[in-house]
Amino acid sequence: MSIKRPSKSTGTAVRKSVTSPGMRHVDVTAPHQMIPGDLYSGWLCKNKSCGLLIAIAPPQAGSKPASAQADDQLVVIKCPHCGDENLYRWSARSEHKYAVKSAGP
Ligand SMILES: [Zn+2]
Repeated sequence: MSIKRPSKSTGTAVRKSVTSPGMRHVDVTAPHQMIPGDLYSGWLCKNKSCGLLIAIAPPQAGSKPASAQADDQLVVIKCPHCGDENLYRWSARSEHKYAVKSAGP
């Protein structure tokens, strides 16, 4: 007489969220994915020696659009150009034209 245990599927993948409550992480577009002259929604880098456009990455398919959440919230954005992390107000984002720095003197 054999007793077979019902095989429970371990399909509940537990993912640890590193985002602390109240602070949101926003994905940004990598510089090599940005086209100079195109408009992107985002912020200009607060680093004065950088000042380049930080573009919000478009929401992935199937995920909820981030813009549906509270608009007046501070988000931590890491500049993809200089690597500086700064706080940006979510509602302060606007469309900017991506301009690369001219390699002039
Ligand atoms: Zn920067």
